[in-house]
Amino acid sequence: MFKKVLIANRGEIALRIQRACRELGIKSVVVYSEADRDAKYVRLADEAVCIGPAPSAQSYLSMPAIIATAEVTDAEAIHPGYGFLSENADFAERVERSGFTFIGPTPESIRLMGDKVSAKQAMIRAGVPCVPGSEGALPEDPKEIIKIARSVGYPVIIKAAGGGGGRGMRVVHTEAALVHAVQTTRAEAGAAFGNPEVYMEKFLENPRHVEIQILADTFKNAVWLGERDCSMQRRHQKIIEEAPAPGIPRRAIERVGDRCAAACKKMGYRGAGTFEFLYENGEFYFIEMNTRVQVEHPVTEMVTGIDIVQQQIRIAAGEKLPFTQRQIEIRGHSIECRINAEDPVKFVPSPGRITMWHAPGGPGVRVDSHAYTNYFVPPNYDSMIGKIIVHGDTREQALARMRIALSETVVEGIQTNIPLHRELMADAKFIEGGTSIHYLESWMAAHKR
Ligand code: ADP
Repeated sequence: MFKKVLIANRGEIALRIQRACRELGIKSVVVYSEADRDAKYVRLADEAVCIGPAPSAQSYLSMPAIIATAEVTDAEAIHPGYGFLSENADFAERVERSGFTFIGPTPESIRLMGDKVSAKQAMIRAGVPCVPGSEGALPEDPKEIIKIARSVGYPVIIKAAGGGGGRGMRVVHTEAALVHAVQTTRAEAGAAFGNPEVYMEKFLENPRHVEIQILADTFKNAVWLGERDCSMQRRHQKIIEEAPAPGIPRRAIERVGDRCAAACKKMGYRGAGTFEFLYENGEFYFIEMNTRVQVEHPVTEMVTGIDIVQQQIRIAAGEKLPFTQRQIEIRGHSIECRINAEDPVKFVPSPGRITMWHAPGGPGVRVDSHAYTNYFVPPNYDSMIGKIIVHGDTREQALARMRIALSETVVEGIQTNIPLHRELMADAKFIEGGTSIHYLESWMAAHKR
C-alpha cells in the first residue's frame, strides 16, 4: 500500500479522499490555491502545499505544479477526485511517466471514454445498449446529415464528441433547423472543447437518468455496485440522486449491470467508473462513461457498505477486489441532495462568508462538506459546498430522514438551494418516484422559477 498520496483537488472531495487515506493508514498531501488557504481540507491536512493563485488554470489545472508537489513531498500516487484533471488522459500519462501512480484508469481508457464517439463505438462492440443515432461523427455533407436524421427520426440531439458537464448539446425538432444546428454545435464544440466533432442521437422525450457504478481491478475482476437514479437535473446538472432507482425491475438492472461489468473486463478497465444511461419504456440506452469517482458516489456507498474511494486506492496499489458480484448486496435506500451556494430562485452563484453553518445529524445521515462557520466560499469554483446523504430501510424512511436533515441544516450569510430541496422533498410526484429528467425544469416553470 502507498505511504503517501497527493490529492489533486479541492472542496468536499478533497476532504473525502483525505478521510479514505486516513482510514487506510496513508498520509496525504493536499494542494490548494490562494483562494482555498482557509479550506477545511487544508486545515486538516497532514501536509498542504499552495500551488498557485485562485484561477484553476494556474492552480488545480496546473499539471507541472501538481507533479512537482508530488515530487517534493515524496507522494507515491495522485488521486484526481472529480472535475479538474480527473478525466484528462494527458495528465494521467504525465503522472505515470513521472514515476507516480495515477489513482484511476489507464490513459488509454480515459482517452477512449473521453471521446463520446469512440466511447459509444466501444460500447456497441461490448454489447452495451446505446441510444440510436449516427454511427460515429457526423460527416460534413449537409445532404448526408439530413439523411442520417431521417433514418434516426426527429427529434434528434446533436452532441459534441468532446462535450461534458451538460454543455455542447442541441435538440433539433425539424429538418429545417438541422444543418444550422449542426454547424453551430460544431463551432461551439471547437471553441469549448478543442474538438469540433459532433454526433447525432435520437432525442428521448421522457427518459430517466440511471447510471451503473462499477469497480474493476487489475486482475480482470469487475463488479457493478447497483444503480443510481439522477433524473432530478437542471440544465443537465444533477441536484438530487438516489439508489436504488425507484420502480425499475431488478432483472432489468441486473442485465445492464452485468453488461457493464463484462464491458470493463473486455476493455481492460481498471478503477472506479460509471456507465450513464437514459432509461425509457423499460429500455436502457448508454450515453457516456465517467472514468472517475462521481459526486453522487455516496448513495452507492450507503446501500452497499462499500467505500468506493478506498477501493480506488486499493486497486491503484495493485490489490484484488475483496468481493465478488454475488457478495454485493443492496440494502435499503439512499438519497443525496447537493447543497449549492446559489440563489434558489435565480440560480446565480452566491459566494461569500458563511456566518453560521450547522450540519444535520442523527441515524442514517451523512454530510460530506468542507464548509464551516466563518468559511468564505470563493467565487472562483463550482458552487457546490457539500452534500447531505441519508440512508433508510425504505425509500419512505430515507425521504423522512432527508426532510428532517434539511430542516436541521442552517447556512447563514450566503444563499443556498436548501429551500428548493425542502420543497422537492415534499413534492407529491418526487415522493411517488420515477420522475423523468425534465421533471425538475417543468416543476420550476410551474412554480414560476
Ligand atoms: P455530459 O457529459 O455533458 O454530462 P451526457 O451525454 O451525459 O453529457 O448528457 C447529459 C444529459 O443530457 C443527460 O443526463 C440527459 O439529461 C441529456 N441527454 C443527453 N443525451 C440525450 C438524448 N439522446 N435524449 C435526451 N436527453 C439527452
